[in-house]
Amino acid sequence: MFARSLNKIFNQNPQKLTVYQLGNPALREVAKPIDDVHDREIQQLIDQMLVTLKDSNGVGLAAPQVGRSLQLVIVASHPNQRYPHAPQMEPTAMINPKIISRSGETEKGWEGCLSVPMIRGLVSRDRQIEVEYTDRHGDLKVTRLTDFVARIFQHEYDHLEGKVFLDRVENTLDLATEEEYQKLWQ
Ligand code: ZN
Repeated sequence: MFARSLNKIFNQNPQKLTVYQLGNPALREVAKPIDDVHDREIQQLIDQMLVTLKDSNGVGLAAPQVGRSLQLVIVASHPNQRYPHAPQMEPTAMINPKIISRSGETEKGWEGCLSVPMIRGLVSRDRQIEVEYTDRHGDLKVTRLTDFVARIFQHEYDHLEGKVFLDRVENTLDLATEEEYQKLWQ
């Protein structure tokens, strides 16, 4: 009972976390699986990552980006300044995620990353994937993701393997600054 009420107090005002930037070795580590989803620190980390994401106009965030080498990603597609054409969805915490199957049909699309500020790159991703993860309540979920949401997932999943989107850009001609990228949409 005490632990529960303490948990409530703890999570009332989640703090925004610092997003580690490219060059920080933490972004290159392979993340470890989470044993106990109900652990108070894990639940707090999820809340803090949700706040961090909202504050940064991001559509996805992986725990290694905030310096925690754990298999946890948030996928939170919604239209905003950085991604005006993103579909709307409820922000979803995915714990120990796995890609079960891939459509094999790939598409190139522009990506950015809160850990790689001011740079966009064209990256090839599977258009459709089937993924398995544990949600923040401890339930195992299997779901099919398509297009932009599938792209976000694959980008975040890469972070768990110590990769960033720049590793997947095939040609330096496929890079743009944020400013030039925004002009494409005006
Ligand atoms: Zn990223």
